[in-house]
Amino acid sequence: MESHKPMFQVENFDDEFVQKLVYDALVWCSLHGLVVGDKTYQKSGTVPGVGMTHAPISLLPTQFPESYWKQACEVAPIFNELVDRVSLDAQFIQDSLSRTKKADIFTSRLLDIHSKMLESNKKEDIRLGLHRSDYMLDEETKSLLQIEMNTISCSFPGFGRLVTELHQSLLRSHGDHLGLDSERVPKNTSNSQFADAMAKAWLEYNNPRAVVMIVVQPDERNIIVTIRKSLAEVETEGSVQEDGTLIVDGQEVSVVYYRSGYTPRDYPSESEWNARLLIEQSSAVKCPSIAYHLAGTKKIQQELAKPGVLERFMDNKDDVAKLRKCFAGLWSLDDPEIIKKAIEKPELFVMKPQREGGGNNIYGDDVRENLLRLQKEGEEENAAYILMQRIFPKVSNVFLVREGVYHRDQAISELGIYGAYLRNKERVIINEQSGYLMRTKVSSSDEGGVAAGFAVLDSIYLN
Ligand code: ADP
Ligand code: MG
Ligand code: MG
Repeated sequence: MESHKPMFQVENFDDEFVQKLVYDALVWCSLHGLVVGDKTYQKSGTVPGVGMTHAPISLLPTQFPESYWKQACEVAPIFNELVDRVSLDAQFIQDSLSRTKKADIFTSRLLDIHSKMLESNKKEDIRLGLHRSDYMLDEETKSLLQIEMNTISCSFPGFGRLVTELHQSLLRSHGDHLGLDSERVPKNTSNSQFADAMAKAWLEYNNPRAVVMIVVQPDERNIIVTIRKSLAEVETEGSVQEDGTLIVDGQEVSVVYYRSGYTPRDYPSESEWNARLLIEQSSAVKCPSIAYHLAGTKKIQQELAKPGVLERFMDNKDDVAKLRKCFAGLWSLDDPEIIKKAIEKPELFVMKPQREGGGNNIYGDDVRENLLRLQKEGEEENAAYILMQRIFPKVSNVFLVREGVYHRDQAISELGIYGAYLRNKERVIINEQSGYLMRTKVSSSDEGGVAAGFAVLDSIYLN
């Protein structure tokens, strides 16, 4: 790791100074919309502008070595390209998930839609990917390791930018006292880059009267201005014309962005599955298509990490090497050697099902218990999971601010790099790193998640 001078020592701050910083931060959040719905207010989330509180934040940006920041940015377009290549290899997707399909009903339903598209020879000419690849910096091996690639409903591109601007603003006012330079917080335009990619997809679709549709959860709390339909509404109000045009509530839809549809909870009945299939059958640009969605599963991540598999998708050897460098240890559960190891030392592994949205992974002694249970139950069910090397990032002292109050805590961080990709047939229109999001959580929490109340929004301070 680069040698760098120690940054501010939060231990040395007196309470009065920290309170002043917190006050300024909270004023900034209120003025610039770094706010979330406050669930204690009944009308929050249904009446815009009512019942809001500042988002959970880290008071100051967290140190991150510049070389790893550059590495994460550099691989973003390569990962975008990889997702696109994988999405075109239907056989690879079907084969990789064939055992998982038997053990996991949600993956199985997604694969059914994928199969139907194959049977009808459905091609996606315009492909829009809005991804977030997440990393932790492993303290022991000093390497930047990928946690996962998200290809559906990536959270917080809007907040990513705002929390960066909050930190830059605090450092402009208090940087001298802190010994910090606001220029060391990299600029972050995640929200406008994602919006720009959606607008360009709309342009490629090429009908000025067509709308962008955001598929939302029924009581959506993220507020986005466009047409917003739940999957159930799409089923009742939507149809696909002979030429593939998707019409919802009388309007032609050019781009469909899923802010829903990534968890089994989003499909409480057959209506939602019908809607997903209907959209997939249409010529609207889907973000993501079923193939992009499946390319982002943990099982595919694990298959891609096997020797020789990346080479199937990427010609450029340098690119392959750059991607592989970010891969942590990943295994399927049909490897007896690794199962033995994980039962002996479960704390060195994370067990993951094919789920998104946080709170689904298995850690510590539960890994051992679940592996032993699966061994008893026999073959099939273990294909629902993968095993991953547990990454141990450096623990640092930070100030976390929630509900107007700061806490000093030991925390670890996860850096998410957004990536936008837009392509029409052979023409790549956008392939870029599109901003970032740091999430910081108390080190005692296995999982975290901002919405779940363990993690906070953060930015980075390059050193
Ligand atoms: P999800 O798709 O639900 O977000 P993730 O794979 O990102 O699933 O896991 C959720 C969280 O669990 C991550 O944000 C991280 O905090 C923790 N986590 C996941 N994999 C690892 C790992 N290999 N080592 C340490 N922590 C991990
Ligand atoms: Mg995820
Ligand atoms: Mg995640």
